[in-house]
Amino acid sequence: MYIVLLGAPGAGKGTQAAVIARETGAVSIATGDLFRQALARGTELGKQAQAYMEKGLLVPDEITIRMLEDRMAAPDTGSGVILDGFPRNLAQAGALDRTLQKQSRAIDRVVYIKVPEEELLRRLSGRWVCRNCQSPYHEVDSPPRVAGRCDRCGGELYQRPDDRRDTVKKRLQVYFAETAPVIDYYRQAGKLLTVDGTGSAAEVSRRIIAALKDGKFASV
Ligand code: AMP
Repeated sequence: MYIVLLGAPGAGKGTQAAVIARETGAVSIATGDLFRQALARGTELGKQAQAYMEKGLLVPDEITIRMLEDRMAAPDTGSGVILDGFPRNLAQAGALDRTLQKQSRAIDRVVYIKVPEEELLRRLSGRWVCRNCQSPYHEVDSPPRVAGRCDRCGGELYQRPDDRRDTVKKRLQVYFAETAPVIDYYRQAGKLLTVDGTGSAAEVSRRIIAALKDGKFASV
């Protein structure tokens, strides 16, 4: 299965990608995580991406598409991929289709996780992420068992610098201007499943698994 998860920052794509990956045996690939890892390692790619990420802007397509293509070429993608945070504009969606076509593959389903804007702001401002394994927490909705420590790996939790309110606003603007058209792109391709992203992570997971199982295409 090749699945794309679409949704605004804070819609829960990372959390749900991990669940779908466990259910399907596919590998989850998040372009934001790839950039943050490159930044932590101090690589040229990380340095190129940093200025854009800090401002809440998209990293240029040329850099992002090349990074994604390299990652997709790794052997662990053979049993399926869950893409989280890519594609984020129409140029990236077209590039993804062409890359997969060359390998006689195609995107099977696109899950659009729909969440109202006030809820996105609330989630992002309370979000903490593990520096080591990237697991997300929320100070109210899903706090860690031990303050400041990841339940899964014991890693240190931190607030992403781009989760600050002013940067969040910019990221949401970029999302509505550049990423929202990608929803229509996949709707027209007949691949879109729209899922209500409000409620607990477990509720949203159940909706996504059910939608993927019966393949129902919501018209929202
Ligand atoms: P995310 O973790 O998905 O919220 O991504 C964090 C930041 O990484 C974004 O605000 C962008 O600056 C950059 N980024 C992640 N994915 C992409 C993408 N597909 N295209 C361009 N920039 C991206």
